[in-house]
Amino acid sequence: MNVNNYINGKFVTSKASDFFDVHDPSTGEVIAKTPLSTSSELDNAVHAAKTAFKVWKSTPAVDRVQPLYRLKHLLERDSDKISEILVKEHGKTFAEAKGDLLRGIQMCEVACGIPTLQMGKFSNNVARGIDSYSMRRPMGVFAGINPFNFPAMVPFWFWPFAVATGNTFVMKPSERVPLTQEYIFQLIDECGFPPGVINLVNGGKEVVEGIVNHPDIVGVSFVGSTEVAKIVYDKARGNRKRVQALGGAKNFLVMTENASVEKSVRAMVDSCYGCAGERCLAGSVLVGVGNSHEALKNEVIKNAKEVIVGNGMESNTSMGPVISQSALERINSDIEIALKEGAEIVYDGRKSVPQNGGFYLGPVVLDNVKPGTLMATKEIFGPVIGLMKVDHLSQAVELINSSDYANTCSIFSNDGMEAQQFIDSVHPSMVGVNLGVPAPMAFFSFGGSKESFFGDVKVHGQSSIEFFTEEHTVMQRWFNLDEKQDLNPHWSKD
Ligand code: NAD
Repeated sequence: MNVNNYINGKFVTSKASDFFDVHDPSTGEVIAKTPLSTSSELDNAVHAAKTAFKVWKSTPAVDRVQPLYRLKHLLERDSDKISEILVKEHGKTFAEAKGDLLRGIQMCEVACGIPTLQMGKFSNNVARGIDSYSMRRPMGVFAGINPFNFPAMVPFWFWPFAVATGNTFVMKPSERVPLTQEYIFQLIDECGFPPGVINLVNGGKEVVEGIVNHPDIVGVSFVGSTEVAKIVYDKARGNRKRVQALGGAKNFLVMTENASVEKSVRAMVDSCYGCAGERCLAGSVLVGVGNSHEALKNEVIKNAKEVIVGNGMESNTSMGPVISQSALERINSDIEIALKEGAEIVYDGRKSVPQNGGFYLGPVVLDNVKPGTLMATKEIFGPVIGLMKVDHLSQAVELINSSDYANTCSIFSNDGMEAQQFIDSVHPSMVGVNLGVPAPMAFFSFGGSKESFFGDVKVHGQSSIEFFTEEHTVMQRWFNLDEKQDLNPHWSKD
């Protein structure tokens, strides 16, 4: 029942005295206990990683990626099993869990290309007889701190790139969803990394504090709420570590009069209700431009009525529960505030949910959401859609750009010029056109801006090579000891 750590190539029982209860959100039952590991357990993991780095950093890149090739195969082999565990501890549907894992596997695939991605640069004769080249060298022990909402994918945003570039790693899953990673680490154990290269330490806040203050950790990747992202960023930067901290979001999806209504709204509603709204790229406020608002509202309600809430393992379920009882209460309280602030509830699916102690919340649609209110500004992280109407596209852009967050936004329109103007003017750094969840693929970089991202270098894709390596530049010349043999006399002057 207690989840294990994985340190120096071995599964170890934590000596923690405090545990976090892991619930099955579809029944409310406690299914496991996450140890809130002690600082000496984190020290053991960092020590193992630091020791392993001495050899791993000079292991050729082509050898470093071999375990990742094997891991990809093992993850695919056990994909159904992993997805079932994921549904059990998180609540999302089986199809969503498979997607969560697939996105993680794609990170391994891209990281297998490190021998090419990590290549340096070379320029000959940069001054007379002098050549210069730069190479990207690993730096040491990195750590990753993860959120609950993508138990399989998010940890893969970091560690495959970190270890393939020659670093070693300590990974902390969310204490709410440790079981998916515990299983994945059994496959990591099989795939052939030397002991200490990749380690798993379970825990909560205390482990995070240990990571950001640890003298032997050179860099930290964090994903979670903005509140904690700021703490992690400030502390780790203060300790002179590299940091990338991805925070919360408030995502606006805009439909213009030039959109295909049915297809657009289906994508928008999937974005808002998929994974029960617990995605950092989930749509939250749907904005109808001009006359499109009425059609948007009617079509959203029609789609919301079709949502079937239930256990994620049942084949007809289209939306699972939210993560916890406290999340359920928080979202319900946000809905009450929105109503007090003038929003109107035009669809309320909260009564049509299983009554078995699970953390179920039916889909909700709120119309007449006004700028500046809670529904227009706060991350809800649940299956609640807010509808807004604006007269012109420029007002939608203004609305998006007035948000403190800037993770993603999308336009739904068949007018290319309109879409181009939207792309050119919005702050969020991940933008969609006729897509509800424009998540960049593993070979592009991922990350928002403003309060959604703290750091300089985004995650996965080419950016991860930059984050996990230090550029070393060499200026080099060779003296000709035998002037008579000189093929080009100009090269040997001075
Ligand atoms: P969270 O901030 O509560 O937890 C994230 C991690 O921080 C966990 O591992 C947790 O153990 C740790 N933590 C929690 N409180 C802490 C504290 N006071 N001090 C130090 N560490 C602490 O986030 P969550 O609820 O697990 O995840 C949901 C949030 O993550 C949402 O805001 C969502 O938008 C965000 N998210 C963002 C992205 C992105 O790409 N921007 C991706 C996924 C999730």
